[in-house]
Amino acid sequence: MEYVDLLNCMRCGMCLPHCPTYKETFLETASPRGRVALVRKIQDGDLEVNERTLEYLTLCLDCQACATACPCGVNAGELVAEFKCEEKGKGGLSFMEDLILRKLVPHPERLENAMVPLRLYQRSGLQTLVRSLGILKMFPPALGRMEGLLPRLPAKPLRKSLLEVTPAVGEEKGTVGFFLGCVMSLIFSEASHATVQLLSGLGYKVVTPKAQKCCGAPNMLGSDLKGLRDLATYNVDLFGGYDLEFIVTDCGGCGAELKKYGHHLPGNSRAEGFSAKVRDISEILALHADDLKKKLKPLHRIVTWHDACHIAHCQGIRQQPRTLMDLIPGLDFREMNDADACCGSAGTYNVARPEMSDRILERKVSSILATGAEYLVTANPGCLLQLKKALSETSPKVKVVHLTELLSESIKG
Ligand code: SF4
Ligand code: SF4
Repeated sequence: MEYVDLLNCMRCGMCLPHCPTYKETFLETASPRGRVALVRKIQDGDLEVNERTLEYLTLCLDCQACATACPCGVNAGELVAEFKCEEKGKGGLSFMEDLILRKLVPHPERLENAMVPLRLYQRSGLQTLVRSLGILKMFPPALGRMEGLLPRLPAKPLRKSLLEVTPAVGEEKGTVGFFLGCVMSLIFSEASHATVQLLSGLGYKVVTPKAQKCCGAPNMLGSDLKGLRDLATYNVDLFGGYDLEFIVTDCGGCGAELKKYGHHLPGNSRAEGFSAKVRDISEILALHADDLKKKLKPLHRIVTWHDACHIAHCQGIRQQPRTLMDLIPGLDFREMNDADACCGSAGTYNVARPEMSDRILERKVSSILATGAEYLVTANPGCLLQLKKALSETSPKVKVVHLTELLSESIKG
């Protein structure tokens, strides 16, 4: 974290109405301006790092809505995240953090093996029994929340079945790498399968290196900068071995992290080159809007779009998904209020901070339902999990889909 970035805050307060935690509490300490001031006071030696100050900072979702709103380019979310990394660097990881962030997350096979019991739990009927008897109420609440977020898992992770090289359909336009996010592979495999099909259908040869590892976003969430840098170095070297025009992802969280590898690995020119090639799938598809339009068949559905923070605020992508949906004949697109307001998912925030997460989620669900939409479309796995669960409880008729699933449905007609 650069101290000078803290000095850029001129305390105008323009970020306040955009900060989800400030909107819920009206507390200065729960606002971007307040958080920047807290970190600055700590850096100046005027304030101790204690449980209370960390509590204020930990309430931040790192949604980066403040960065979009700030006229001075201050990114309070990022400053807080980097400050927490520095603090964690002094104390080291706990046993559980080390187990999850260093021994599980960076190893795709271990993650896949960890999902096997969950798949059995769902497919054996045990999940239905556990839910109907309310057995999870006897366990810590966090376990019940995690279980509740889990949608039906695919038969196998996409990483297992996807070809390392998917050939282009028709004349080859170029070669792109596909960064398959862990959660996309393990849970939303249909969406990522649709992504690869769309790319190949538009004439791209798609290379999905099987040896790729997690992007490191969970390490950043856990303030584990070393773990993140190790993963970034590994992925940069791996993808550097291929001749790729772009590195495409359909996971908003991965895309935001991959685009920052150059920042996380200062002085590593390969990391800068890697980040410069990263594109969200909507950016690539929008480049080929004319070709895509010819493939789309009418889809008579009322649809709304949730701007995931990692796509809108962290990557600045807003227009491309809307342009793509606009191409679908018959689609009735309705913009929701505050489409770029956080849904309260924020990685593991919805489990770690359930009360605040639920309050933020409630606003989002109201905005969605006010549109009368039959489909809620978004492109980040955390938001998909959070909104699938919330809408299945309040409005089960609203289908929650990834953008590439919607486009694929229109292509199939
Ligand atoms: S962070 Fe930016 S918008 Fe917020 S008070 Fe400071 S200068 Fe103003
Ligand atoms: S990142 Fe989000 S929650 Fe954190 S200060 Fe900025 S707007 Fe508020």
